[in-house]
Amino acid sequence: MATLEIKDLHVSVATEDGPKEILKGVDLTVKAGETHAIMGPNGSGKSTLSYAVAGHPKYEVTSGTITLDGEDVLAMSVDERARAGLFLAMQYPVEVPGVSMSNFLRTAATAVRGEAPKLRTWVKEVKQQMGELEIDPAFSERSVNEGFSGGEKKRHEILQLALLQPKIAILDETDSGLDVDALRVVSDGVNRYKASGETGVLLITHYTRILRHITPDFVHVFAGGRIVESGGAELADVLENEGYVKYAAIQEATT
Ligand code: ADP
Ligand code: MG
Ligand code: MG
Repeated sequence: MATLEIKDLHVSVATEDGPKEILKGVDLTVKAGETHAIMGPNGSGKSTLSYAVAGHPKYEVTSGTITLDGEDVLAMSVDERARAGLFLAMQYPVEVPGVSMSNFLRTAATAVRGEAPKLRTWVKEVKQQMGELEIDPAFSERSVNEGFSGGEKKRHEILQLALLQPKIAILDETDSGLDVDALRVVSDGVNRYKASGETGVLLITHYTRILRHITPDFVHVFAGGRIVESGGAELADVLENEGYVKYAAIQEATT
């Protein structure tokens, strides 16, 4: 069973005034079968955590460790991380002009599975998943994310999740910009992916509304580049009622 283990992680980002420390000692363990929500005020470092795990070159890990099933994730290239079973759905997905969705997905699946999926079964698999996510079939011939609406980009992310079946999925603000119907389709997709119990989900969100569709086992509050409080699903209800005021002093001290 997969385990992502983050220990005392410190991460800096390069700025005009030199490196700035954003993450200040994050400890977090996500196991297969668990859903963790990370919540917190804007600028608290939630996206920095996801970029650091994914291996974004702008984010430098200055100390601490990240392991997946005991393997050193920080020693892996971005591709190796994907092959090892880590998946990051971005807050702002990139556009890839000239590359069709169907080619992109097959290339991604080839990279993750270590061999190209057989074309016949692959086409069937993609069609079925697209149907479940209520995605227009014409979508597969369009360029990756080019001209996609916010909702289409999010569905595309969940389509990748369904097809690639990563061990640990990190979803960063997957709920932002979704209307009620799209939120339901995307949440149902995540819940189907979770249903095997063999995968872990790290759900990063500023708002509690997606947590009414995807129930977290653990909720962590980020402020000032650290986890400042952890609890169960009930913590999300407290945050829904009280907001992040309680953590404002910690957050402001860092900005
Ligand atoms: P969140 O996702 O919680 O809103 P982020 O991780 O995006 O927070 O940002 C945390 C802090 O790091 C913010 O103060 C932000 O301005 C800063 N930061 C993040 N990425 C960069 C970057 N590439 N360059 C400069 N500052 C950055
Ligand atoms: Mg520390
Ligand atoms: Mg963010």
